[in-house]
Amino acid sequence: MEIITAVKGFKDILPPETDKWRYIEDTAKDVFRAFGYSEIRVPLLEKTELFRRGIGESTDIVEKEMYTFLDRGEESLTLRPEATASVIRAYVEHTLHAVESVTKLYTIGPMFRRDRPQKGRYRQFHQIDVEILGPDDPHIDAELLLMVIHFLGRFGLKNLNLEINSLGCLECRPAFREAVVQFLHGSEEELCGDCRRRIDTNPLRVFDCKMEKCREIITKAPRLMDFICVSCREHFAQVIACLTLFEIPYAVNPNMVRGLDYYTRTTFEVTTEFLGAQNAILGGGRYDHLVRDLGGPDVSGIGFAIGMERLAALIPEQAKNAAEGPFLFIAALGEKAVDKAFSLCNRLRMKGVRVEMDYHSRSLKSQMKKADKLNSAFALILGEREIEENRALLRNMRASTQEEISLDEFEETIMKIAR
Ligand SMILES: [Zn+2]
Ligand SMILES: [Zn+2]
Repeated sequence: MEIITAVKGFKDILPPETDKWRYIEDTAKDVFRAFGYSEIRVPLLEKTELFRRGIGESTDIVEKEMYTFLDRGEESLTLRPEATASVIRAYVEHTLHAVESVTKLYTIGPMFRRDRPQKGRYRQFHQIDVEILGPDDPHIDAELLLMVIHFLGRFGLKNLNLEINSLGCLECRPAFREAVVQFLHGSEEELCGDCRRRIDTNPLRVFDCKMEKCREIITKAPRLMDFICVSCREHFAQVIACLTLFEIPYAVNPNMVRGLDYYTRTTFEVTTEFLGAQNAILGGGRYDHLVRDLGGPDVSGIGFAIGMERLAALIPEQAKNAAEGPFLFIAALGEKAVDKAFSLCNRLRMKGVRVEMDYHSRSLKSQMKKADKLNSAFALILGEREIEENRALLRNMRASTQEEISLDEFEETIMKIAR
C-alpha cells in the first residue's frame, strides 16, 4: 500500500536528535529558573483577531504567512505564528499583572508559518519564547540580555555577536518615520515592489528587506539615533552601561528595525556564523504598548524568541550529556537466563535505573556489540550456569574491567554504583 507522508514543511524530529532538543530545553529551564521565570503554556490556536492586532496588519506574517481557517465556517482561527501575542493575551485575560509587579514567563513549543519552503526552514518550527512584563526599567532590558548571552554560552557557542538598537518611543518615532517616508519617496523607483508598497503602510520594514538594491539604499536613510528623545536616549545609555558592567560585548546596529510592528526602544539580535553566513539565531525587543493594545493595563514588556531548529543545528554533538546510553545492559544467554534478566531488568527500571536487554537471546558476541553500540556503562553477563551458581559477571564497559557479583545482592550492588 502507498505510504502516507508528513505534510510539506512539517518535519518529524527523531531520536537521537530529540536527545539534543531535550538537552536544550532542560538547559533553558535551568537557566530561566535561576533568573526567576515561570513556565506558561498557551494554546496553539487563537482567534485570528489576536494576531492582526498583536503583530500588525501590514506585516509579512499577517499578510501572507498565517495558517488561518474558518472553524467549520463559524469563526476565523489561526495557528499561532509566534508566541508573544498569546502570552500577552493570557497575561491580560487572567489579570496576572494584579499578582505581581514584574512577571517573568517562558514557553517552549511549535509555531506555524506558511513560508516559502527553503533549506532549514519549516512551516512548523519551534521556539523558546521569553517575556518580562512590568515597568520599563533599563535594568530589565540588561538583565534579559545578560541571560541570553549566558544561556547561549552554556552550549559552548562561540563567535556570538549581540547587536542592539533603540527604536524610540511614541514621542520620538513619528518624526523619524516621517523622515524615512520622505527619504524613501526620493528613491522610490529603485526599491523592490514590496518595499515600494511598504512606503506608506510600514516604511520601517524596508530596513529588513533582503534585496541587495534596497539594502544599499537603506544605508543612506535617516538614523533613528538622530531623532530619539532624551528619555529614550537615557534609557538606551543605561542598558549599555549595565552590559558594560558585565563585560558583555555588543555592537549598536542603527539599521536593525526588526520585522514586527510592536517594538519600541531596545531591540536586539544575536547572530553567529551559520550555514556559511552571519545569521540571527535569536531576536527580540521591548514592546511598551502591546499589552495596552491587547486590552490590558499600561504595562511594558520585553522578550525574545530563539529558534530551536537553528540552535540544535549549532550545538555540537559532544555538548550533549555524556551519560547518553543506558547504565546497564543485561546480556542473557538461554531461555532461563532471559526470564531471570527480564525480572532483574524491569525491577531496576522501576528504581529509576536505565537498563536495556535483548529478548531474542542472540550470541554473547552480538549482545555485547549491542551494549557497546548503545554506549552502556555496564554490562551484566548472565548464562544458565551463572543462574545455577547464583552469580554473574559485571563488566565495566568504559574501563574494560569485570568482576563477579552475587545475584542475591544484585540490586543493592547496582544501586550503589548507579548512585
Ligand atoms: Zn522617545
Ligand atoms: Zn525591498
